[in-house]
Amino acid sequence: MNAQPLSFAGYEVITLLDGIFEAPADIIVHERGEAARTAAIARLGQEKIRIDVNCFALHGAGGITLVDAGTGKAWGPALGHARAAMADAGIARQDVGRILITHLHGDHALGLFDGEEPWFPTAEIIVPEADLRFYGDETHRAAVPENKRGAFDIAAKLQRLYAGRVRSAAPGPVLPEIELIPLPGHSFGHSGYLIGDEERALLLWGDALHLADQQAEDPETGILYDLDAAQAVASRRDILARAADAGWVVSGGHVTGFRKVRRQGSGFALEPAA
Ligand SMILES: [Zn+2]
Repeated sequence: MNAQPLSFAGYEVITLLDGIFEAPADIIVHERGEAARTAAIARLGQEKIRIDVNCFALHGAGGITLVDAGTGKAWGPALGHARAAMADAGIARQDVGRILITHLHGDHALGLFDGEEPWFPTAEIIVPEADLRFYGDETHRAAVPENKRGAFDIAAKLQRLYAGRVRSAAPGPVLPEIELIPLPGHSFGHSGYLIGDEERALLLWGDALHLADQQAEDPETGILYDLDAAQAVASRRDILARAADAGWVVSGGHVTGFRKVRRQGSGFALEPAA
């Protein structure tokens, strides 16, 4: 999907759809326990979760910047289409100057690789410092459940294939008019990127929400992939409130389209941005 670009502080932004990710509904978790979890699964109303996997291309004065990189060829034929979407948008991989990574999970970072080659020949890879530090240290591996250890391999491969082109980014400004906002919980370094200025801004929130509408309405609904579920809930609630109050346009790794957040009851609702 390459809808009409939206413009924020000199960046034209398009979504690059990598594909649709499916998982059984029982990966849903809930902060208030089993009864709330069962209700959240029932609310989904289907046996499987089906969510978009997105990355984004930003065209600005400094050339092309991506936010995340999709799955590449790593996750099968339902995914890996961001590369074709990028080509359809007239962007060659050598045109990409830098890639802002929200976190080091496969659906966001494996597209950086082509087997044992870097897919992007010249791009600088910018990674939240807390993810690079945590997953870059093998001594932390044992502290993470086995099914969440893939990010250690991604961090090692990133340093190996992109040697000298990996930059760690602290919270705050990372590029002109782009700010890194830490959203810890999904991973310790998981972050969003805020593009624009006070007048008009877009927040790409990575995986702060996976089931966008359901988690906006009930931010205590989570999925198993969050490393620290309670911290993820706090980050989710906080960023939804900030986005609602500031009037930011939002999207993310698993959001369909560009949206705006408004407060509704004890939670929030997502509306189409345009
Ligand atoms: Zn994801």
